[in-house]
Amino acid sequence: MKIIVCIKQVPDTTAVRIDPKTGTLIREGVPSIINPEDKNALEEALVLKDKYGASITVISMGPLQAKDALREALAMGADDAVLVTDRAFAGADTLATSKALAGVINKLGDFDIIFAGRQAIDGDTAQVGPEIAEHLQIPQVTYVQEVKVEGDELHINRALEDGYEIIKVKSPVLLTAIKELNAPRYMHAQYIFDSADKEIKIMTADDIDVDKSELGLSGSPTKVKKSMTKEAKGQGEVINMPVQEAVSYLLKKMKEKHYI
Ligand SMILES: Cc1cc2nc3c(=O)[nH]c(=O)nc-3n(C[C@H](O)[C@H](O)[C@H](O)COP(=O)(O)OP(=O)(O)OC[C@H]3O[C@@H](n4cnc5c(N)ncnc54)[C@H](O)[C@@H]3O)c2cc1C
Repeated sequence: MKIIVCIKQVPDTTAVRIDPKTGTLIREGVPSIINPEDKNALEEALVLKDKYGASITVISMGPLQAKDALREALAMGADDAVLVTDRAFAGADTLATSKALAGVINKLGDFDIIFAGRQAIDGDTAQVGPEIAEHLQIPQVTYVQEVKVEGDELHINRALEDGYEIIKVKSPVLLTAIKELNAPRYMHAQYIFDSADKEIKIMTADDIDVDKSELGLSGSPTKVKKSMTKEAKGQGEVINMPVQEAVSYLLKKMKEKHYI
């Protein structure tokens, strides 16, 4: 089985603070992490590898710094890593990002499964995975919370708001992972040593068969009209009373405001 996992390096939003004077995000000193649901995607690929044998290639589009995320993925057990990086990709919206990633995947050859996270915690669009599937003209299943291999089919449990559905699909397929899928493993001591020496393959815009006009800013139809920071609504109320009383108080307040 050949599996590709798309990994995005994102700022750890739990560590992002807001400058009280300007109201803007303070990004300095904020650590970068692997997007959480991409770790679920990688974990599921590793589970399949453990059970059935597979080779796992992780790919990330981003600056050179994204090598750290790829090394972490190698230290978790991925076999190969590809960093997609080029000035030509700057200013890419989700369409241009997915075209670049699909272009890279086309160059990597045959595959059975592409895993992506459902959504990145910084961009938050949940568009890149489904767009990659569209460019490659393969089926996709989003919101995946369980994967079972049954003969030559995958039986996928797909989360819905009020239930789930089981989708039977054949590879090649793209799946987007949600956190309910699994609990990502820690890096493995041996793989941490091995990953330090492993080569991370670099691919640029010249390495893929995608017209440069479809990449970066020129390939990005999205226009950001305005951006703003969310204002704090108020200080809130701290309820300091025994649990039973607190619950009754909360229910009363919520009824008053017609939330329930
Ligand atoms: C006009 C415009 C200009 C922009 N310019 C820049 C820029 O110059 N530099 C910049 O960094 N961003 C830029 N962005 C943001 C960039 O487009 C998005 O971060 C990117 O397309 C991913 O979208 P998302 O974060 O919503 O991911 P989602 O669609 O929410 O991500 C879903 C999944 O797709 C996969 N994925 C997403 N992005 C990547 C990636 N890069 N590599 C591998 N897998 C990935 C992951 O598995 C992820 O979990 C720009 C956006 C716009 C609208």
